[in-house]
Amino acid sequence: MEFIDTHCHLDGEEFNNDRDAVVQRAREAGCTSIFLPAIDVASCQTVLDTCKRYPDFCYPMLGLHPEEVKADWKEQLEQIKSFLISHFSFLISPIAIGEIGLDYYWSREFEQEQLLAFEEQVRWSVELQLPLMIHCRKAQNEMVAILKKYVNDLPGGVFHCFTGNEQEARQLLEFPRFVLGIGGVLTFKKSHLPEVLPACVPLSRIVLETDAPYMAPVPLRGQRNESSYIVHMIDKLAEAYSVSAEEICQQTNENVARIFSLKR
Ligand SMILES: [Zn+2]
Repeated sequence: MEFIDTHCHLDGEEFNNDRDAVVQRAREAGCTSIFLPAIDVASCQTVLDTCKRYPDFCYPMLGLHPEEVKADWKEQLEQIKSFLISHFSFLISPIAIGEIGLDYYWSREFEQEQLLAFEEQVRWSVELQLPLMIHCRKAQNEMVAILKKYVNDLPGGVFHCFTGNEQEARQLLEFPRFVLGIGGVLTFKKSHLPEVLPACVPLSRIVLETDAPYMAPVPLRGQRNESSYIVHMIDKLAEAYSVSAEEICQQTNENVARIFSLKR
């Protein structure tokens, strides 16, 4: 069984004491690649450093997370853009813009700035033809409105940590070349994803993710999450779609290969 973790904050300090062991466990569980999203300028550096430590296994995605959009967002974007441009020629190339998006869950203080920062980074995706890793909470309509302006030119991407209903899933799947990132929430007792997904999301539109260190799946809920735990998501997805775990892996790997280019 081989699978890919498309969203993991492996550069986070939660892994500072045992990162090598976490990577080792991931490999032993069948994980063949881990994609690391940045959230701001400082994390662009830690993401790149972590990816350099695990070449051909960890891959960087660079962007400004909506919760990190503050008064200095323009300066942050300027620096992140130069990271993106300058690293194109190095051994470790960014494979996506992310994670970016809109998040009005905690605060709307920087609502306008979030909209502007998101749209600017969506334009980078078109310009550089790098896929998007999108984080969206309590703002799907606003996000969809911005993406629609660029729909014909976007190379694709992931709506990360999808937890919505059928209607929301259908709205997102209208974007061709985009897939839903499915993580630990799927395994939570009250999750409706085991019904929603097979009802309206073909397996060709799903990728796997942990969002580690957050969102650990049942039966490890509440613990620090890590890539090797994806096996619990795979089992739950196989059950929901009435297919084998092997088929879940094969399909989601194909989906990743279609959207992301891991060639150097
Ligand atoms: Zn994340």
